[in-house]
Amino acid sequence: MTQPTDLAEHSARLEALDARARLAWAVDRWGDSLLMTSSFGPGSGALLHLWHTVAPSLPVHFIDTGFLFAETLAYRDRLVDQLGLSLVVLSPELPREDFLRKHGLTVYQDDNDRCCAHNKVAPMQRALVGKNAWVSGLRRDQSQTRADTPIVLETLDGPVKVHPLADWSRRDIYRYQESHHIDEHPLFAQGYVSVGCEPCTRPVSLDETDERAGRWAGQAKTECGLHTFLEKKGT
Ligand code: SF4
Repeated sequence: MTQPTDLAEHSARLEALDARARLAWAVDRWGDSLLMTSSFGPGSGALLHLWHTVAPSLPVHFIDTGFLFAETLAYRDRLVDQLGLSLVVLSPELPREDFLRKHGLTVYQDDNDRCCAHNKVAPMQRALVGKNAWVSGLRRDQSQTRADTPIVLETLDGPVKVHPLADWSRRDIYRYQESHHIDEHPLFAQGYVSVGCEPCTRPVSLDETDERAGRWAGQAKTECGLHTFLEKKGT
């Protein structure tokens, strides 16, 4: 049987496999040059559990922007303990107080792109140096901007992005977490379906179908830049 020869073909082939098999393929191909990230938000438990079963010796990377909810940090620590994860915390160059002193106390309102670039994107870019691939929990049903997320995405001059849960629905996530007895983020019960930094996140109402509607609500921004700074190959 002829094997796929490029990553686009692998991506198409992996569509027919389950998330565990997709992850196993990526771990087998890239080993420790594969970097896994999690926001430890609602629904993160599914991929974290899969990661630990497929790659128990490899760490999970987490960006602590300095603006996160205390509940997220507590949830992170609980899941690390519950799932037996090894955690690497990525931090911005300037701690929160220094950053606010330099750029203004309301920079997250006045210039949220600058704020995300410093506190989210730059720490990620530093962590990706020397890595060949990056696993994250992006899903097609999270928002319009993520509707075309492939399982494997080749980028221009950057690591390959791997999205084992690309075709999972929110319901698939919760079903998986429930069947594996994985705790949910404590803010989920209060209507926070997607959780980022505290100043830029609000709960969503029942009539909002976009699970990221509570992120930068009322502003044009829909993505922090983490998943857009790498350009897709061939675009
Ligand atoms: S989400 Fe808000 S607080 Fe967090 S880095 Fe971006 S602009 Fe700053």
